[in-house]
Amino acid sequence: MADKKPLKQYLMIPGPTPIPTRILSAMNHEMIGHRGPVFSRILGEVIDGLKWAYQTKNDIMVFPCSGTGGMETAVVNTLSAGDKAFFVNVGNFGDRWVKIAKTYGVDVTELKVERGKACDPKALAAELAKDKGKEFKAIFMQQNETSTGVINDVKALSEVAHKSHPDALVLVDAVSGLLAEDLKTDAWDLDVVVSGSQKAFMVPPGIAAVSMSKKAWKFYETSTLPKHYWDIKNQKKFADKGQTYTTPPESIIFGMHEAIKMVQEEGMENIFNRHKTNKNIIRNGLRAIGCRLLADDACASPAVTAIFPPGDIDGEKVRSEMRRFGFELAPGQGDLKGKIFRIGHLGYVDYMELVATVGALELLFNELGSKVEIGTGVKAALAEIK
Ligand code: PLP
Repeated sequence: MADKKPLKQYLMIPGPTPIPTRILSAMNHEMIGHRGPVFSRILGEVIDGLKWAYQTKNDIMVFPCSGTGGMETAVVNTLSAGDKAFFVNVGNFGDRWVKIAKTYGVDVTELKVERGKACDPKALAAELAKDKGKEFKAIFMQQNETSTGVINDVKALSEVAHKSHPDALVLVDAVSGLLAEDLKTDAWDLDVVVSGSQKAFMVPPGIAAVSMSKKAWKFYETSTLPKHYWDIKNQKKFADKGQTYTTPPESIIFGMHEAIKMVQEEGMENIFNRHKTNKNIIRNGLRAIGCRLLADDACASPAVTAIFPPGDIDGEKVRSEMRRFGFELAPGQGDLKGKIFRIGHLGYVDYMELVATVGALELLFNELGSKVEIGTGVKAALAEIK
């Protein structure tokens, strides 16, 4: 149907998200000395802003890397080879944390939850209760599992974990969840929280932030896993001077500096509500045109939705055909490749882009033989915009 090539790419993937002009402009800055006072002030303000977003007074260190570097940082700074650790695994990023830990010789026990479901706090309690000797030193979990579009109830899981294993740490990968959904680092007693720049902060990929509670710092002192680049105490030494250990990705830091201003101007509740509406536009719009969604409403992610196309339409075909209209969607990962496609709706994504995505899918599914009255999905999607 499209008789010309699209002029732009509509980035409907769960990170990197589109970047607002304000952030792009802030990044369009000459390099400055990263051991000088101007950079120190900027980095200090970025870290203060991260503390606001994390809702914490804990230390936060910034690493030049993607989110996975932050996940590795969390492991190598708290554990030693042979330590027993427990992993709540609801999807591919749960698998990733397990792989990282095994690489370093951590003794892993995992609760592998059916893909598309969140971890039931009762199931976690039951699994942890099997560890009679209370040997688990750490309990790892994702806030938002990007591969399945599922959000965990971190508050409840953390409560269960601390109650069962009061001496253990709770570590949370909040890379795709932070600012899309509430995460109270201090109030929920989260010892280590990892995030990345390219998600709800609306900044390009390039930095991961890792928070450490006082208890996590105690674990650091006894942790013997090898580390150099990821040594968080070394990073803190530099953070205290308003610096990073290595040469920082300055453009990303300038972008984060502006992003912090933007999210603080918008306000946390407004940001959460915006993501909730994004989720509802996609879920209700797509349900109206015959799609099945992988996650139930009760654990549906405000950041990303995993979708089974109607009938026997292949998920990868949906992605390649949607490029004709300029839409870039995300693939299914692991066993779900081809079965589903995913739509990211976090960060700098606006309601009408989501409505248009539903509209384009409606056209495409019709072309591919699914009989749905044109306008049905768009109408359902629009109804979510109050
Ligand atoms: N954790 C989650 C939940 C993610 O969604 C991602 C990336 O999408 C990562 C970790 C890894 O981040 P990165 O790809 O930046 O290394």
